Amino acid sequence: MPSQDRRRAVPRTDRVLADPVLEPLAATVHRDVLRHWIAEAQESVRAGRLEPDELCAAVIARSRMSPGRVINGTGVIVHTNLGRAPLSASAQAALGSAGGCTAVELDLSTGRRGPRAPGVAEALLARVPSAEAAHVVGNGAAAVLLAVTALAAGREVIISRGELVEIGDGFRLPELLETTGARLREVGTTNRTRLEDYSKALSPETGCVLKVHPSNFHMAGFVGTVPVVELASIGVPLIVDVGSGLLEPHPLLPGEPDVTTTLAAGADLVTCSGDKLLGGPQAGLILGRAPAIERARRHPLARAMRPGKLTLAALEATLRAPSTPVADMLSVDTSTLRARAERIAAAAPGLLSVRSCRSVVGGGGAPGLTLDSVGLSLPVHLSERLRHGDPPVLTRVSEGQCILDLRTVAPDDDAILVTALVGALDGPVPGR
Ligand SMILES: *Cc1c(COP(=O)(O)O)cnc(C)c1O
Repeated sequence: MPSQDRRRAVPRTDRVLADPVLEPLAATVHRDVLRHWIAEAQESVRAGRLEPDELCAAVIARSRMSPGRVINGTGVIVHTNLGRAPLSASAQAALGSAGGCTAVELDLSTGRRGPRAPGVAEALLARVPSAEAAHVVGNGAAAVLLAVTALAAGREVIISRGELVEIGDGFRLPELLETTGARLREVGTTNRTRLEDYSKALSPETGCVLKVHPSNFHMAGFVGTVPVVELASIGVPLIVDVGSGLLEPHPLLPGEPDVTTTLAAGADLVTCSGDKLLGGPQAGLILGRAPAIERARRHPLARAMRPGKLTLAALEATLRAPSTPVADMLSVDTSTLRARAERIAAAAPGLLSVRSCRSVVGGGGAPGLTLDSVGLSLPVHLSERLRHGDPPVLTRVSEGQCILDLRTVAPDDDAILVTALVGALDGPVPGR
């Protein structure tokens, strides 16, 4: 169609809005948002990418494009691009209840203002008895910043050159630390740092020592770091950023530091994320000695890093629950996964095959570690089709193979997965 005719063929906004098929959307979507979607579709018609009679369908399809749930078949347990830890059912229910009015800062027994969400710190201390106190902020990076600011602003923070890491997306720990107003005193080398390196750097200017767990890379060979118990002996405040939020040692993750052991080894403050191996919402935790926690809690920055009521509710529910989806995914055995895989494969005999694969922890920690797992081997062209489904199903494609790892799929989602797989297999096979 010549472009002039195409312009004339674009349905007018008031006509589109009056179309009965858009009535349900008009009742549930803000007018300005709906007009924006219509304008987008009109532009597509003008550009020849869409037929005029497809416009309403395109607007309806657009309304479904939102950050809804996806099924994670990638085998990456804590997938940064999929929102890290999936919340437990009880944490999701807590989000719903806290969404309305909730007594987040009100003592219901007296009717007066009370401490903010005291149940969160209580649950944290019940889970980590070696901590005297705890404080929650918006994410793990904020926890490190607040802890360092409280103990070392205007003074020096001593850190090993082997721990000046990039967290991700271009954010580098040394640059973050400089924003606290503390001066970095780098010691040791990239691969080896000794206790003397730290003790020689001590001066009246020292505010604290910071030890950071390298949670996204793995160094091997001629390497050496100083254990927490030795660092704690040098007589200055010690902050340890363990990253992943494991509260106690995990048998499958021997190299992953945990909060309880790190505090028992003598750290004054331990920091971590809430949404990695802890399995909760995005949050940052600081646990440790009461006076140091109090300094962090009273610091003006603490107000700028305060988490919202939804975070606090989901975190408390996560800490109270006997397990989390992340913990369940870590510990599920391969015979359980194989039985699930066989049941799913039976839905499409001859098209899906069960196979062994390997999962990883991902953004949550334990770099380099893989876990034996079981999944489904799929025709490669299904990967894209599944990703475009509702709900989208994410698989892993590597070396020309498409694998759907069942370790990272919640067992409750198996039925939805079968429907998605059968639907995707029904489509035409490309190139035939
Ligand atoms: C993930 C991580 C951080 C950053 O935590 P966020 O929750 O992403 O802000 C900081 N330090 C370590 C060691 C980490 O693993």
